[in-house]
This record gives sequence, structure tokens and C-alpha cells, in this order.
Amino acid sequence: MKSDMEVDNMKFKKTIIISIVISVILLICSLLLPNINIDKDTIGYNGNDTYNIKAYNTIRDINKYIKISDNIDKKMLGNYQVTVKVRYLFYRYNKVFDIKVVDKVKPEVELKGNNPSYVCPNKDYDEEGYTASDDYDGDITDKVNIEKNGNFIIYSVKDSSGNKNEIRRSIIFEDKEEPSLTLIGDDNIVIYKNSKYIEKGYTAIDKCDGDITDKVIVTGTVDTNKVGTYTINYKVVDNSGNEASADRKITVRERPSYYGNGSIYLTFDDGPSYLTKEILDILDEEGIKATFFVTSGGEYVKRAYNSGHTIALHTSSHKYSYVYSSEENYFNDLNTVSDSVYNSIGIRCKFIRFPGGSSNTISRNYNKGIMSRLVNAVTNKGYVYFDWNVDSNDAGGDGNNSNKIYNNVINGLSHNKTNIVLMHDSANHRGTVNALRDIIRYGKDNGYSFKAITNDTPVVRHGVNN
Ligand SMILES: [Zn+2]
Repeated sequence: MKSDMEVDNMKFKKTIIISIVISVILLICSLLLPNINIDKDTIGYNGNDTYNIKAYNTIRDINKYIKISDNIDKKMLGNYQVTVKVRYLFYRYNKVFDIKVVDKVKPEVELKGNNPSYVCPNKDYDEEGYTASDDYDGDITDKVNIEKNGNFIIYSVKDSSGNKNEIRRSIIFEDKEEPSLTLIGDDNIVIYKNSKYIEKGYTAIDKCDGDITDKVIVTGTVDTNKVGTYTINYKVVDNSGNEASADRKITVRERPSYYGNGSIYLTFDDGPSYLTKEILDILDEEGIKATFFVTSGGEYVKRAYNSGHTIALHTSSHKYSYVYSSEENYFNDLNTVSDSVYNSIGIRCKFIRFPGGSSNTISRNYNKGIMSRLVNAVTNKGYVYFDWNVDSNDAGGDGNNSNKIYNNVINGLSHNKTNIVLMHDSANHRGTVNALRDIIRYGKDNGYSFKAITNDTPVVRHGVNN
């Protein structure tokens, strides 16, 4: 029999041993216990961003004993899970981490136009435009907030995930642009000695100050009595001190020896119309006389006559199919216009021009040989008919091209002939009106004199073709 003491002693020893064993087991367990960590709880949308899982215990790395899986779709913002399966020694469990796919990228703002942008002093900045885009939201231009801040404009934008960005445009209130100075007319002019130099003018427009033509300073003179080259300088300075300058060169030449030998008879057919008034204004301003082959009388015919121009007859209807179908019709039409003019100015005109000219062939379509008979018939009645030998061709295809009309006329002029120039003043001949002044100036500068048809004018006639 063991004594009670002995029994107690044994119990005690047993307890100690169990305690030690448990402690050792616990110690081993704690040394082997897997630690599973994730390095982040958010990852960036659609990028290369990823998470890392680390598995270890006190003794060593146990990454190879775990299996990682997740349900992450990087193309969609949202909450996802990463599941780590632990299978290590006697450990068997799953650890789940929450992870969010988020948009961490700032939107981009881009400015259109200039930066810095120069704005006229005392004017408002006109927005030149901008765009904003986000990697997740796409185009978010409409979310841009614009704030004016002194000499800056701040364009800020926030994407749906709260990422912000901003860009600044600096505004400089300063006129840096020089005015635009434009000379009216040629910048290189040739005139003859003793003729008149006519300044055609200029315009000056400034971006900030508007029309500053009245600030243009013109320096330089042209002495038309002296052969030479002269320069007229035009200068303008805007309110901010920007300067523009232009020169016009005027060459004064000796007049050619033929000067003064040629005459030009400007003749206008088919009027009057509202353009007749403009033509009369130009003729008045230039102080020259011309001849109008009219289809009726009226206010402008009266004015032309009173101004000393020659009124002559064309026909009333100007309809080839009517006037050239018989002599009777022709004279009916001629009498109609003659009466109409008579009512306006009280005289019977004797100068006439056949529609299409005496050489026309269209009359063959209506009456063979009628022109041969008419040229005699009109002469027998005391009329004098005129054709032309310089055709402005303003009734041709380029009737509204004043440059072509001008060139047709000046190329047809000669000092060795009586220049009878065919032009038209019916309502669709704007090009003729536009070319007229330059034609007159060319004639004057080249020694021609302008005349209206009178009894002394040598007749100019085509051959009859029907
Ligand atoms: Zn005509």
C-alpha cells in the first residue's frame, strides 16, 4: 500500500508532465500556425495593379501550401473576394479577403485654343473650348467646372469615383496683333506726266480697336509734273501701340508721243435701266460724254440728254424675230422707241444701231436679205447707223467679269482709229458699271479723248451679211 503522501506526490508529477506536454504542443502549434496576409484591399481599374498574398509561420514561408482564387473582374468597379485555401499539416481552412476594384486614375482635361491666350484689354475672354475624359467614365466634358480667377481660368473635373484634376489657362489682357492696313487699288501705279494722281484710299481694321481708318497717317507726295518714282507711306498705330505700315509706289512717266491722237466713243446699248443712273454718275464725275442707243425714253434718258450725252435709237422690242421679219415691223419698232424718246426730250434722234449690228446673221432666220434692204431704207429716211469696232464683250459669257470687260476694251483701243466701244446698260450689266471708271482712267492716262457721237463722227460699220 502506498501512503497518501506517495499518492499525492505521483498525482503532482503526472500533472506537471501533462502540463509540460501541453505546453510543448501549444508551443509547436504556435510555431506552425499559418499567417495569411494580403497587401491591399483595393486595386486599380483595368490596370496592371494586383494584390499579393503572403503565407508564413514563425519557422518558414508556406506559400506553396496555399491555393489562391478570386472572382475579380478588373473591367468592373465593385467588391470582390479573394479566397485562400490553406492545406498545411493539420490546418484545413479557407480564409477570405474582401477586395475592391476602384478607379484611381485622374481624369484628363485638355484645352483647345491658346494657352496663354491673349485677349483685347477691356474685353471678355471668349472660351476657346476644352475636353475632359476619364479612363472609366469616358467623355466627361460636360462635368467640367469653369472658374475665373483673375488672370487664370481653372477647368476642374471630378470622375464618378471622385478623382479630381484641373488645368489652368492663363489669360493675358494685351493686344499683341498689329492692325490690318489695306490699300484700295493698286500698290504700284504708273501715271503720265501732267495727269492727276487720284488716291484710291485705304482701310485699317484692328482686332481690338475696330475700324481705325481715321488714324492712318499718310506721308509722301507725288509731283506729277516731274518724271520719277514716288512712294506714299501709310502708317497706323492701334491703342496698344501695335503698328502697321504699307507703301504705294507711283511712277510718273513721260507721255507717249502719240498722246492726244485718239478718240473713244463709249456707246451703251439696250438701256435705260437702273444701271444707267450709275453710269451717268460716273460719266459726270469723270467729266466725259458718251452715246446711249436706247430702247425707250424716260427719266434717265432725259438726264443723259440734259448732261450732253448723245441719245440714239436701238429698237423698242429688241426682238429679232419681230424686228427682222419685215421692214414694216422694223420701222414700227423703231418708231415706237423714237416716239418714246421724243416724249422725254422733245427731239427726233437720227443716229441708230441695229439690234445685233448691221452685220448680224440672225435676221436670216426671219427674212432673207432684210439687212441689205434695211441699211438702204434707214439711210433713205435720214438715219445714220453705227456699228462698233471695240467690243467690250459684256453681252458675252463673262458679262459680269469687270476685269475681262476692262481688258477687252483697252486691248481693242488704238490711236489709229475712231474707237467706237460697244457696251450695255441694261439691268444685268453690273460688270460694265464696275469696269467703266478704270476704262475711262486708262483712256485718259493714255492720251485718248472721250466723245459722244455727233454729225462729225466718222461712221464705223460692219459689212452686211444678210
Ligand atoms: Zn442690243
